Amino acid sequence: MKRQHLLSAFFLIGLAASIAWTQPFKEPRLVVVVSIDQFPFEYLVRFGGAFGTGGFRRLMTDGANFTNASYKHAMNTTGPGHAVILSGTYGNQNGIIGNSWYDRATHASVYCVEDKHAAIVGGQGAGRSPANFVGSTFGDELRIVSGFRAKVVSVSYKDRAAILLGGYLADAAYWMADSCFVTSTFYTDSLPTWAQRFNVSGLVNSYFGRNWEQRAQASALVGTDIDDATYEESGNGLGRVFPHPITGRNRDRITSSYYSALQASPFGNDVVLAFAKAAVNGEQLGQRGVTDLLCISFSANDVVGHAFGPYSREVAEMTLATDSVIAGLLTFLDASVGAGNYLAVLTSDHGVAPVPEYILAHRKGAEAGRIATDSIVARCERALLFAFGPPPAGSTWIENESDRNITLRTSALAARRVDRNAAARIVAEAAARAPGVAAAFTQDDLQRGGASSLLEEKVKRSFYPGRSGDVFYVLKPYYIDAGGSTGTTHGEPYDYSAHVPLLLYGSAIAPGTYYSEASPADIAPTLSAVTGVEFPAGREGRVLVEALKQISAAPAKSVPGH
Ligand SMILES: [Zn+2]
Repeated sequence: MKRQHLLSAFFLIGLAASIAWTQPFKEPRLVVVVSIDQFPFEYLVRFGGAFGTGGFRRLMTDGANFTNASYKHAMNTTGPGHAVILSGTYGNQNGIIGNSWYDRATHASVYCVEDKHAAIVGGQGAGRSPANFVGSTFGDELRIVSGFRAKVVSVSYKDRAAILLGGYLADAAYWMADSCFVTSTFYTDSLPTWAQRFNVSGLVNSYFGRNWEQRAQASALVGTDIDDATYEESGNGLGRVFPHPITGRNRDRITSSYYSALQASPFGNDVVLAFAKAAVNGEQLGQRGVTDLLCISFSANDVVGHAFGPYSREVAEMTLATDSVIAGLLTFLDASVGAGNYLAVLTSDHGVAPVPEYILAHRKGAEAGRIATDSIVARCERALLFAFGPPPAGSTWIENESDRNITLRTSALAARRVDRNAAARIVAEAAARAPGVAAAFTQDDLQRGGASSLLEEKVKRSFYPGRSGDVFYVLKPYYIDAGGSTGTTHGEPYDYSAHVPLLLYGSAIAPGTYYSEASPADIAPTLSAVTGVEFPAGREGRVLVEALKQISAAPAKSVPGH
């Protein structure tokens, strides 16, 4: 008997040891996914020398820094990028092929998170929900596997960023409508008390009349242009040079342009961070004995980048201010959830194209510029006229162009008995010959198996039948889809728009710099692997195994006598 007891005791000790041994890391109490809207990877390098130790630098040094993470789709904009991050899928599966697309049935543009069946909670505006998103996210699977005990909260200035990170089963996604954070009846019928309290705190309006000052040392301004560059946009009362007043166009009182000005400055991210902290405290995220998920998308970087361009003083200042925001977030999580108890991910939804005028000023004879999409449509319309004659009176062959998708008019094709594929081929050939256009593909091309080039592969990932146009074209590098002569944008499949940070940080993560090929589509499967949650429905990305601390393969060794 005695001997048996002893054996059992040994066995139990051995078993306990083996369990402890097979779980070398603590389960994260909180997963925090941070997306910085419009943040190319190169900012981590170019401005890295001026970072403090507690923000980006902490994630890069103590976490895993994937230096080779690019989106593999063609449409590098906010909706599609955020839809990838926690689903591990691209638009060809999740349906979010653009911030908006053209619907042939209703002859109207569809916004990626619009929902006529939903209403705004806590403010005004059109209904919003993830109804157009197809599939599931890491948060959705986390909610299901936890029996809905895990909480998922998503926060941003932009509705599409918050909603597409949050997924279908989020407790709520919150975004800003002027002075308030709001949500949708899709999630809840009333704002929680902590959010209501935040909205009446006056914080959002407290920045009125403040100046955005220049603070960066000379070392942080390497690679930046003069402050008063003529290609900079001076909208919403900010002007082109520091200090930028945060008042909006009316200097005397708060109007809605004040809220636009606020989001064109670092103060915009400060407000989102404050609301995210209120959410952690209010919902006790990461403090309830179950793994929760907090998603935060900081949007002010995008607004500043569009207006001033990636080589501006403003983007340098904005990036350093964001470094402080990240440091503030991590310090807060150390205190509330506990250092080592949370798993943090930092990425971006897309990068940005250089301002064409900046490239032209520095590269004589460069191919770069602004493309008026109207001129491409006109060229394609002329080609169709030449091939098939005039369309029915009062109509056109082409019904719509939006975000590189050209849609033919079905009624015109039917009336003139013109084959859709034949017409699409004519459009693609005409578009491809337009100045500044790299290539054009028809629906037929994109529905065929295989791809003739890497470019076509990317376009295929941004193609969703029923939402995409008849022809998709891609601009050449350094051409942007924008009129005027100031500011810049993003959206093409080139690395300045596609190459983003991918930082993982937490006790499950093996610190290091990783040069292996990666993509933001790898984030969701990696989070699934670490937490043991089922992969999102259609995930294409891989588990970033090289950055995960390995679990021992032979736990049986620790059991004596076996
Ligand atoms: Zn943008």
